[in-house]
Amino acid sequence: THDIHIIGGGLAGSEAAWQLAEAGHKVKLSEMRGSGDMTPAHQTDGLAELVCSNSFRSDDAESNAVGLLHQEMRALGSLILREGDAHRVPAGSALAVDRDGFSAAVSAALAAHPNITVVRERVDALPAEGPAIVATGPLTAPGLAASIASSTGSDALAFFDAIAPIVYRDSIDMDEAWFQSRWNKGEGSDYINCAMDRDRYHAFVQALVDGEKTEFREWEKNTPYFEGCMPIEVMAERGPETLRFGPMKGVGLDDPRTGRWPYAVVQLRQDNATGTLWNMVGFQTKLKHAEQVRLFRTIPGLENAEFARLGGLHRNTFLRSPELLDATLRLKFRPNIRFAGQITGCEGYVESAAIGLLAGRFAAAELAGREMTPPPVETALGALLSHITGGAEADTYQPMNINFGLMPPIPGRTKKADRKKMYTDRARAAFAGWQAA
Ligand code: FAD
Repeated sequence: THDIHIIGGGLAGSEAAWQLAEAGHKVKLSEMRGSGDMTPAHQTDGLAELVCSNSFRSDDAESNAVGLLHQEMRALGSLILREGDAHRVPAGSALAVDRDGFSAAVSAALAAHPNITVVRERVDALPAEGPAIVATGPLTAPGLAASIASSTGSDALAFFDAIAPIVYRDSIDMDEAWFQSRWNKGEGSDYINCAMDRDRYHAFVQALVDGEKTEFREWEKNTPYFEGCMPIEVMAERGPETLRFGPMKGVGLDDPRTGRWPYAVVQLRQDNATGTLWNMVGFQTKLKHAEQVRLFRTIPGLENAEFARLGGLHRNTFLRSPELLDATLRLKFRPNIRFAGQITGCEGYVESAAIGLLAGRFAAAELAGREMTPPPVETALGALLSHITGGAEADTYQPMNINFGLMPPIPGRTKKADRKKMYTDRARAAFAGWQAA
């Protein structure tokens, strides 16, 4: 018998199991690898396998948001960080790990814990009885994905990560760009517009066609594009006018310098509640990252753009969490089930483990009959959680790495060089206050 069932022994499920077990609760952890099943990206049966790079990214907690997240997770007894630190390999200021040693140590720690039973089995439906945590990741097995889709509504689960680049608002040159909604519908400040004249537009379309693209992985090739998330360079290849009649159309917009509709336009839409992040509308792309930076900085107004994330397209199963999950990661209409990890719409090893940590702690508090206050939005954990459970727009919800743009802006004018430190100082103070309470 167990107190809680966790499905998926990846980064999130392993961390959630550890947090619950350490708090004294009996956990059953179901992992399909090792029972004859495999995902298209995993290679081993090890728990918390890193499927691609071996890096947890920057470990600098003073000026980097993911480094700050590391620090907060260590303070909460994270198993993933403990074993990451123990299996560290040299990588400058980054935390990179020996992937085999790391996964073996996480597997061993979970197997040896008296409160954890690891069962190698595939789960094909959302559990009817709770409590449970679903942490089956971006490559959730099809049976369970279908079960989740049928209980949440088919449009509530995305199978593609069609990501358009996201730009920091304060890096957009508003002397070039202007605020306006097409036909002046909605709020006047809903969109930022960057106009292009005829020559610039055609040069830009040609550059998209010529640009260097990343190749599809074998298992991604057979997955058709949804019309709504066609990569920008695929549209460009269809003909020089396609984009001008698609996402780059200038109709209904008045360029303040000419008073006329621009020949073509790039629009950016607000992406988070605080207005610090703006996404490039319709610009999902498979261009190589360096190529995206080079090309998109040729857009008038984006010459100095800093990107919170670059575009991409790959298979990724994730929920419309801002609509479906409550503030403690419970499915609103079936609160006996929590979700954790990348399936909630965070992205990356560390972020997934972080959300696993929070799901485990929320569940442990609930089992003990206590309520746990979510970490404040000024902290890295709180900012990530609030992006997932409410901060983001449900309709355009896309997976995100942790970044300072998810935190409330620092009030007043500050020098750019000082700002990161101000974010992390404020986060540390907020975290200490929360932990003490
Ligand atoms: P996972 O770590 O994937 O764990 C989910 C677990 O659930 C798996 O062990 C799976 O076998 C199991 N499972 C699935 N369905 C079922 C079922 N029905 N029953 C039982 N068990 C099930 N992130 C980075 O930070 N850096 C990278 O370089 C990077 N590269 C990536 C490359 C690819 C191709 C992919 C797909 C993802 C990549 N990511 C990368 C993202 C990273 O994989 C995730 O952020 C992280 O692993 C997610 O953690 P998770 O626990 O949510 O899911």
